[in-house]
Amino acid sequence: MKIFTIEAGPVATNGYLVVDEKSHTAVVIDAPMQSADWFIKTAKQNDAQIVAIWLTHSHWDHTADVAQLIRETNANVVIHPEDEYRLLDPNAHTVFKMPVSFEPAKATSYVMHGSVIHLSNIAFEVRHTPGHTEGGVCFIQHEHKVVFVGDTLFKESIGRTDLPGGNHETLLKSIRRELLPLPDDYVCYPGHMDITTIGEERENNPFLLDYY
Ligand SMILES: [Zn+2]
Ligand SMILES: [Zn+2]
Repeated sequence: MKIFTIEAGPVATNGYLVVDEKSHTAVVIDAPMQSADWFIKTAKQNDAQIVAIWLTHSHWDHTADVAQLIRETNANVVIHPEDEYRLLDPNAHTVFKMPVSFEPAKATSYVMHGSVIHLSNIAFEVRHTPGHTEGGVCFIQHEHKVVFVGDTLFKESIGRTDLPGGNHETLLKSIRRELLPLPDDYVCYPGHMDITTIGEERENNPFLLDYY
């Protein structure tokens, strides 16, 4: 399994291409604005076909290029049901008026807390981590010790909770319940900024110190 990262769009959002070299398939985890061409090119360079788009949540900065990717790859789109409403009508939920308009997209299947989804034979556990949004989820791959955390947890920070659907206490509880119990060496791939580890955040994240 290989992970490729793009940081794209006006608020520097991370998108990830996870490639399974054995099956020559790949999954996109979040599709920032102006990332689609890069995803398609990177998949091609790695001799892989994009089969699915897994969304950590539905803020426009993570979903802007979903519609283009569906058109060009026919990939399935996976999201938690409580976050689909922004994907269906992105322009109604931008908070700030945007100079561009976003294309709506539909999910092809849903994930809930405890769902297991696969990239070929590689299993990812889904954990519901509301607080940044209602239907935010994390995707965990236990053998490779990686967790895609979206905007739930950042290096020495946490996701903002002042947007509609956000709740600070709920977010802290989600992180404490679903992420901090993971082993120290699990690598976190966040929706913004640098990768980190569960151990580093348990030790250093100022938002989580109260709990330990
Ligand atoms: Zn977000
Ligand atoms: Zn974001």
